[in-house]
Amino acid sequence: MAAVVKAAIYLADKAAENAAEPVAQSGSGCCPLCRLPLVRERNDIADIELDRCEEHGTWFDCGELQHVSNAMQAFRENWQSRIREEELRQLDALLAEQQAVAEEGPAKRFFRALGALLEPSKSTDHGGFEETQ
Ligand SMILES: [Zn+2]
Repeated sequence: MAAVVKAAIYLADKAAENAAEPVAQSGSGCCPLCRLPLVRERNDIADIELDRCEEHGTWFDCGELQHVSNAMQAFRENWQSRIREEELRQLDALLAEQQAVAEEGPAKRFFRALGALLEPSKSTDHGGFEETQ
């Protein structure tokens, strides 16, 4: 997938370099297909403004597609590493909890389980009837 993207970026940059008509570098251009004015849109991830035609999509100047692709890749890697850190943090918390249970000993585990059973509001549902024994 990454190889396909890199190839597409390379071809887009080559096409821009070899364009027959000069490309407006500062925006306020027109769509090469329909000649309607392009709208400038900010891409915050890549920290760049791109030209977009309502009908034909985004037009990239030379190097812009490469820049956006690199920024998106960096954003994705940062996002994935944050998710991995959160998963590791949750795993550490779970392991610490299991370790604490393992260290409390069988007697303490027994009384904790017994306490949960004897607490009627949490352990069992009597269907609204009181037990009278
Ligand atoms: Zn257009």
